[in-house]
Amino acid sequence: MDVKQKYWNPVLETLPREKIRQLQLNKFKQIFKWTYDHSKFHRQLYGQAGIKPEDIRSFKDIKQIPKVEKSMMRDIQRKDPFPYGDALCVSLEDVAVFRQTSGTTGQPVYQPDTWQDWEWWAECWSYILWAQGYRPRDRVFIPFGYNIFVAFWAGHYAAEKLGCEVVPGGVLDTKARILKIQELQATAMMATPTYVLGMAETAKSKMDLDPSQLTIEKITCAGEPGASIPSTKRRMEQAWGAKVYDHAGATEIGAWSFECNEQPGGMHVNEGMFLVEIEDVESGEIIEEPGHRGKMIITALDRQAQPCVRFDSKDVIEWADEPCPCDRTSRLIKGGVVGRADDITKVKGVLLAPSAIEEVVRDLDGLGDEYEVIVEKDGDTDRIKLRVEVLPEAEDQCQLIEDKLADQLRLKTNLRYDIEICGCETLPRYEVKAKRFKDLRKKG
Ligand SMILES: [Zn+2]
Repeated sequence: MDVKQKYWNPVLETLPREKIRQLQLNKFKQIFKWTYDHSKFHRQLYGQAGIKPEDIRSFKDIKQIPKVEKSMMRDIQRKDPFPYGDALCVSLEDVAVFRQTSGTTGQPVYQPDTWQDWEWWAECWSYILWAQGYRPRDRVFIPFGYNIFVAFWAGHYAAEKLGCEVVPGGVLDTKARILKIQELQATAMMATPTYVLGMAETAKSKMDLDPSQLTIEKITCAGEPGASIPSTKRRMEQAWGAKVYDHAGATEIGAWSFECNEQPGGMHVNEGMFLVEIEDVESGEIIEEPGHRGKMIITALDRQAQPCVRFDSKDVIEWADEPCPCDRTSRLIKGGVVGRADDITKVKGVLLAPSAIEEVVRDLDGLGDEYEVIVEKDGDTDRIKLRVEVLPEAEDQCQLIEDKLADQLRLKTNLRYDIEICGCETLPRYEVKAKRFKDLRKKG
């Protein structure tokens, strides 16, 4: 591959819109028929709705197809063909790879992949890495506990596929990982935003080492929305002296979206490989126009062992209205994944997305990276407690910071908070994905 080449796949990434749509429709018909023919679970689901493969001629027909929810997958699994159950479209002999979802929202879902699916994962990730400037000269350090979760496994294989040199930072602890980055002069890494900030904090406070003096030039994030939240992105970029890029993917879906090197304030959907539909949460209508948020219904157009067809992802997204200066013709989602339909909750009658709080907290000088939000009932009214950490150099400005924080939060979220300013390093720390938003009302 010519390192000066701008796109990983120059044909697919610059295909005129109408051709992308035609390709998506053709591929959708194929994966639908594959699924219908090979998965008992899907055939039953579609049979109940009276839909057969030959009924699908347009995107309008696709809208009528029943969605698949995670809970449906949970119900059919742990049965024969063990442990995947009736959605398995290939024989068990053809399954080459096992992964499972993290189980943060309930019992984990098992994900089988064939060898071909696994190659497809690496191909999805190759688009991401190439668009973010990864080239064969890069030495990529992956500070990730390699295990049953898909996380950065596919990023690892894609980096190899590009010709980068990959250093797996598996069982090392945070300090050892930082030292390895220093020793090998690694140029790139992949991690969750929580861990990117956590590593920087460890380097500064426990090793007397400034991570921006290391050789990391770019960081690819996943697993949490932070890299698309401007203030969190800025904190990571300043701490590491590196470009920070977002990407979105999931075990049951694949790596479907990425920020390119132009960083237009949104992420490209890899439309040659995925069909993304945005559904209005209240009306159930598919949203075509920009600027209107809804939840994502997604189809992986090429995945075979356990297909992902009209999967109700619960990710909240919206289409951007401007094309990207990088000239890729795929559509952008504005501001990345802005939340989870499950997390966006009504507080005092106002819709609140936890990411909006993060954006404000991390935008204020004088505050540390950690925060904690607790929503609870006080009689008939909701109360929101927000705990933040003040940095040692700003301890004499607590009142000023609190006032600013309250103002900004009111502007951004239309809500009032009980703010508590805590000392440095008093709030919980998280290794990989954080749980900073706690809604105690749900426990009754
Ligand atoms: Zn772009």
